[in-house]
Amino acid sequence: PAHNLALEEMDKACLLHPATSIADHLANGPRIMAEASGVHVTDTRGNRFLDGAAGLWCVNVGYGRKEIVEAVNAQMSRLPFFHSFTSMSNEPSIRLGDKVLRWAPEGMSKVIFGSGGSDANDTNIKLVWYYNNLRGMPDKKKIISRDRAYHGVTIGAGSLTAMPVYHQKFDLPLPQIRYTRSVDMFRDKPADMSEPDYSKLLAGELEKLILSEGPETVGAFIAEPVMGTGGVLPPPEGYFQEVQAVLDKYDVLMIADEVICGFGRLGARFGSEFYGIRPDIMTMAKGLSSGYLPLSASVINDRIWAVLEETAPQMASFGHGFTYSAHPACAAAALANIEILERENLVGNAAKMGALLKTRLKETIGDSPIVGDIRGEGMMIGLELVKDRETKEAFDLSLKTAGKVQAKGYENLILVRTLPHRDVIAMSPPLSMTEENVEALVAGVKASVDAVADAYKADRLIA
Ligand code: PMP
Repeated sequence: PAHNLALEEMDKACLLHPATSIADHLANGPRIMAEASGVHVTDTRGNRFLDGAAGLWCVNVGYGRKEIVEAVNAQMSRLPFFHSFTSMSNEPSIRLGDKVLRWAPEGMSKVIFGSGGSDANDTNIKLVWYYNNLRGMPDKKKIISRDRAYHGVTIGAGSLTAMPVYHQKFDLPLPQIRYTRSVDMFRDKPADMSEPDYSKLLAGELEKLILSEGPETVGAFIAEPVMGTGGVLPPPEGYFQEVQAVLDKYDVLMIADEVICGFGRLGARFGSEFYGIRPDIMTMAKGLSSGYLPLSASVINDRIWAVLEETAPQMASFGHGFTYSAHPACAAAALANIEILERENLVGNAAKMGALLKTRLKETIGDSPIVGDIRGEGMMIGLELVKDRETKEAFDLSLKTAGKVQAKGYENLILVRTLPHRDVIAMSPPLSMTEENVEALVAGVKASVDAVADAYKADRLIA
């Protein structure tokens, strides 16, 4: 590999890297990725993995796309950077804004660029607050998120995230944030309840929360179409329709966090399209640029823009924006990325290959003693591991069962993700997977799950 440090020096230096877990490095050794092509990633020791996680739900078009590299190269030579404040802008971000709105559901009308999903969700919170201030409703500021949600880690987005590890010792969440009961058809929906009735129940809980807080204090509700880090949890049938009816009734904005679901992952352009959500604000990141360069977007609809435009011409008073908002090289990467999605019909491929992945997983490990559920849509699949399939009893989390399957995956040269607080293996491969890639991923997952099940049998952890 082309780098200056010897392998062992690199392993040690890796411990200084502030963004990675030192505990994990010490326990498992560092895993340093060196290069990638198509759906495969190779580490510094030459292990070539099938990336069943697309980096981090991210690299939708796969690796090594020359079109993106060339577009970025050309933009870097032409105009590597200029800010986008006041009257300034740049060509690729204007073209990208246009493209994003062509992709977005009807009624979305303006794009505000950022760098990552977290800062985009902070922007969204400020947009809700700004909008309601302009409307003369300064008290309508609470944002309702859902139990176990993940929306990022900045002060605002980290507050929308509803997992203890992201709050503890940070004095989060912010006082304006509330949480309602989440979707969970595997663990929460009563077995004898239909999906539409479960949807009604959850929307009813949301309504109760809005009423107890006072609708005049609730500004927005945020949800992912399919909850990702919270457990790969698709909504029950009719969920978003029931929820939207409640939001409409109390003049509460809908924020769809499409950071994972957007740009084809569910086999539709956006999760909002897939589930018939009518978002007022959409959060986009990850698949927007397939991670080649950092880029996010907050996309607002006509309803919000009408207020902003009328009361604050050109948003001149919206005191918000980052140095790197609408970065020209990132925008060029995103444009080339979306053109690949279009040209190769990768959204259609995600629907087809995703369905195949789910079916083949069910066929091969559906009756494994430790597999409780195989769920998801398109290229967003979750595998819930359980101690008892009948009772759905979970393993003690200290066993790190999903982590063991993931570690076996390294041996079997596949990459899958584990999630916090839940024994779920998450799969989100590039949308460019072929049938052969799907079979290889399924084989690797099966070998890894079987190995852990066999070890647990030997240790009498399962019957
Ligand atoms: N929203 C969702 C749904 C996410 O999955 C993530 C990241 N995994 C974020 C927001 C935050 O994005 P970032 O890590 O780019 O800040």
